[in-house]
Amino acid sequence: MKFNKTLEDIQTYEAGKPIELVVREFGIDPKNIIKLASNENPYGCSMKVQNAVKEIISKMSLYPDDSMTKLKNGLSKRFNLGVESLIIGSGSDQVIEFLIHAKAHAGTKILMNSVTFAMYEIYAKHVGAEVLRTASQEHNLDEFYAIYKEQKPEIIFICTPNNPTGDAIDTHKLKEFLAKIDKDTLVVVDGAYMEYAAFKDASKKVDAKELIENFENVIYLGTFSKAYGLGGMRVGFGLANPKIIKELYKLRPPFNITTLSLEAASVALEDEEFVNKSISANFEEMKRYEEFALEQKIDIIKSFTNFITLCLNETQDSTKLSNALLQKGMIVRNLSGYGLNAIRVTIGTHEQNNRFFELTAELLK
Ligand SMILES: *Cc1c(COP(=O)(O)O)cnc(C)c1O
Repeated sequence: MKFNKTLEDIQTYEAGKPIELVVREFGIDPKNIIKLASNENPYGCSMKVQNAVKEIISKMSLYPDDSMTKLKNGLSKRFNLGVESLIIGSGSDQVIEFLIHAKAHAGTKILMNSVTFAMYEIYAKHVGAEVLRTASQEHNLDEFYAIYKEQKPEIIFICTPNNPTGDAIDTHKLKEFLAKIDKDTLVVVDGAYMEYAAFKDASKKVDAKELIENFENVIYLGTFSKAYGLGGMRVGFGLANPKIIKELYKLRPPFNITTLSLEAASVALEDEEFVNKSISANFEEMKRYEEFALEQKIDIIKSFTNFITLCLNETQDSTKLSNALLQKGMIVRNLSGYGLNAIRVTIGTHEQNNRFFELTAELLK
């Protein structure tokens, strides 16, 4: 049977291995498996969210409120933007899908960082678009601009902080860059980890409202999957000029967010204490990774997120290390597929991190 030619060249996205798979493959007791591979919140999610979801569990038989009024109002308040400036997706992943399908087609040029979130390229390839990449590992906006001037891409992806490297862009540099970009070019600013960066360093904090009000061609993406601890609920959002949002709505399937997810995200937005505690614990624990790396003589990339990238030296191999960790029930992300001899580790709880240090020190010996 024949399928679209555009699919031939796509590699299926490899999500962090789920715990269930490790149980089956290695026969390890699920209690002894630690997953530090998908940048989930190791502290779970707010109790208020859990209670609210329990309360409405019997509503499962009904289709969700497709107007999403409660969550839209919550986001509108949080970002101080009108509801016509936002769209909610099944994860911000879905918003990425919408925007690529809305603007790109065969041959459209899409510019992104050399190493960045894999889904940009996968969606680009769905429509046969051409992916252009910078050379540097970290976002270098001068390089972005040079390629932009020469190639005139129609979409530019900026991921700050970047996944899987953890580095973030200075906001004033980002704004300078955006000011030089033509209004016909859609610039996507993916802030999946922005809550972390904003906490750690105010100079990296992107104010979504300011951004989209100053730049009519920019869309800002956020998610509930990381700091809010709702990866399993699949809720993300895009914020942009209503003219952009209106087009994206044409691609949205009805009921793309479930009743339980809408409720979970709405309540999660209100529990700022939970989010702040998670973020502050994250950076406390991150210090221990920095110390560990120093002891082990491994390089790290300074991170503004809830994960850290350990760049191994020539005598070490990220594939071997991540496989060996997996056999011990420790799931991390091998970055060899991104061309890096590195592993990306989600900062876990104190105990989870202890286990990581213990196992890794032993394996690197
Ligand atoms: C996790 C992540 C997303 C989206 O996650 P969803 O779960 O689909 O909301 C988007 N961009 C980056 C860079 C991410 O790391």
